[in-house]
Amino acid sequence: MDRDTQSDAIREAAEAAADRIAEEKTHLTELDSAIGDADHGANMDRGFRAALERLEDADDDPAELVKTIGVALVSEVGGAAGPLYGGSLMKASGELEEGLTAESTVAFAERYLETVEERGKASVGDKTMVDAITPAVHTYKKSIEVDDCDPLEALGKAVDAAERGVAFTTPLRAKKGRASYLGWRSVGHQDPGATSTLYLLEEVFGVAREYLDGDVEIDAEADVDPEQLEEPAVEDGADGGP
Ligand code: ADP
Ligand code: MG
Repeated sequence: MDRDTQSDAIREAAEAAADRIAEEKTHLTELDSAIGDADHGANMDRGFRAALERLEDADDDPAELVKTIGVALVSEVGGAAGPLYGGSLMKASGELEEGLTAESTVAFAERYLETVEERGKASVGDKTMVDAITPAVHTYKKSIEVDDCDPLEALGKAVDAAERGVAFTTPLRAKKGRASYLGWRSVGHQDPGATSTLYLLEEVFGVAREYLDGDVEIDAEADVDPEQLEEPAVEDGADGGP
């Protein structure tokens, strides 16, 4: 894919993301009303509409386009999620200066996670977006670097990992953000920021699938050879991943 095509893909992903967030606005707000202040859907929707406007005047360069989305989210989303989403996209966009490759997207993903963690001071298990981002990023990196998957397949597995991460937030007690004020009462509710992270990843995957012309099931488990399941697998190195 040349840079112009990569830029088209990023613009299309931003549009798909904005549409999905608009569709899920009420649902995200419902999730945030249970353990927050009922603004996550509206915040994200405002941010992505602003991002599409800003993209109209942005240069066709992958890093520049992603940075532009980040700037829009920082200025428009507000709350805790704005600086986390937007600031991390801005920072991680620097990894895309050479364009989109398997290597650069792994670096982008790692830098994004690192920045969210640095800024929000949340770790896995605190019931935040970090619980969706961490398994997604670790799975993407491992799928490319260890399992030799192509980026599309790796992204499919990352989406699947994020989905499990989101489900994992429900039984947790929140330790960061507004939800933490509720203490034990936050248990039993799915985290809004982890949920919006999953939606965005699903949209990026959908657009990647169009551009990379593949056909991968989102459910990574479908790829497992059933025969391998019969023998108890020997763990190949405890890497401490979630
Ligand atoms: P606010 O909480 O300020 O109203 P939003 O409702 O837009 O902002 O976003 C809430 C989401 O932000 C939470 O569901 C959680 O995923 C995420 N979040 C909040 N605080 C943190 C943090 N310190 N680190 C990571 N994510 C956080
Ligand atoms: Mg909120």
